[in-house]
Amino acid sequence: MVKKKTTFNISKENNFSEWYSEILNKAKITDLRYGVKGFVVIRPWGTRIIEKMYNIYESALRNTGHDSAIFPAVIPEKNFKRESSHVDGFAPEVFWIDKKQGEDKLALRPTSETAFYEMYNLWIRSYRDLPMKIYQRANIFRNETKATRPLIRSREFHWIESHDAFATKKEAEAQIQDDILMTTNIMHKIFGVPFLPMKRPQWDKFPGAEYTIGSDSILPDGKVIQQPSTHLIKQHFVKAFGVKFVDEKEKEKTPWLTCYGPCMSRILASVISMHGDDNGLILPYALAPVQVVIIPFNKEKSKKIIETVQKIEENLSKENIDVKIDDSDKRPGEKFFYWEMKGVPFRLEVGEKELESGEVSVFIRDTKEKTSIKIGNLSESIKKLGEEYDARLLVNADKFFSDKIMDCKDKPKVKEALDSGKIARFNFCSSEEKGAKCAEFVEKELQARVMGTRADLQEKASGKCLICGEKATAVVYAGKSY
Ligand SMILES: [Zn+2]
Repeated sequence: MVKKKTTFNISKENNFSEWYSEILNKAKITDLRYGVKGFVVIRPWGTRIIEKMYNIYESALRNTGHDSAIFPAVIPEKNFKRESSHVDGFAPEVFWIDKKQGEDKLALRPTSETAFYEMYNLWIRSYRDLPMKIYQRANIFRNETKATRPLIRSREFHWIESHDAFATKKEAEAQIQDDILMTTNIMHKIFGVPFLPMKRPQWDKFPGAEYTIGSDSILPDGKVIQQPSTHLIKQHFVKAFGVKFVDEKEKEKTPWLTCYGPCMSRILASVISMHGDDNGLILPYALAPVQVVIIPFNKEKSKKIIETVQKIEENLSKENIDVKIDDSDKRPGEKFFYWEMKGVPFRLEVGEKELESGEVSVFIRDTKEKTSIKIGNLSESIKKLGEEYDARLLVNADKFFSDKIMDCKDKPKVKEALDSGKIARFNFCSSEEKGAKCAEFVEKELQARVMGTRADLQEKASGKCLICGEKATAVVYAGKSY
């Protein structure tokens, strides 16, 4: 008889690609059998993590003066085409809906600036209407031609997009800083995903933006993954939609617009990849659909044990801890492996021994250590363990990330860094248009992308561009991506 494999056990370090595909399947995060390239079904375990992400992000947006709206998923062609650089940038990726007789051709939104601005033209009249800060929770569609990877590169994304309008450029630029801070406070500090805030080079900014600041993280195989971006929109773009306001002196002006787009489904890919280990998922405490699983530890399932676990469940639930009792017929060992693979932070074991001592044994997912806590103040102890657990995930992720950045002094070193799955940091001629040629070289010869310059630091370039030999004016970062 073949023994049923109950453990996950794939090396994340040596075979990330297989690890990633298998964990999405085994932990029931996604199902690829829908049969349309680039579109996946997100199953309940994945959806509940995404729901938690949305809740955290949306409450932060509301706390910073944003309100929510729901816009249609379709954008009429004439609105979509109102600003040329935006059209040129997005046109190849748009899914068009077949035109019905007498109706406008419609685009399935690849992003919603052209939907929001059409309405901001009607909603913004005077300086009293500003700032206007509105976001929506939405799915967007981009017709990716490259190979797709579930959650990482898809044709449908689940994100939030906020579109903010201000009377002055200064306020708009302050919003850009706030957006970066939000990425830090949520994606980095709560979800444990470190990133570099990068000002994109001129040739790689959002189509229609004056400038773009992206946030780049890395996957265990050394591939860079782009996370939330924030953009200062060109006045030209805003004018194309006729958005204007009258200031205090009755003068007509064009407002300054920004947009920010954290993508929950793609952040989930980073969360899974960053924290998981060879036994499966390790989910941040704040995001785990089940934070505590209770395993009653007795064959006969004595009445007293059942009563105790139910009481524990009730107490933890009351404190808003997501808890589940696994009283299925599976063997304890199978249950252990299963919930470990699913990334549940804490497993409580309750048996006769625990009833007598008044303490339960807690298995901690990331360290795989066990500790005992008193049944009396269980919820307090769990919350404290949760904080310590998240702090550990963050420290480990930060260490992993900083080890992935390599300073390079010559061209061979850049190649060496990129080929060994690292982000290369080096002197470069320019992040303005004239650097595009060297970026093209990096793309063609080294199969990597120049990500840009640090948005959070003033890094001073020295010497020559490692690619063309001309005077360096920028310190850039480059990495390989999917
Ligand atoms: Zn150069």
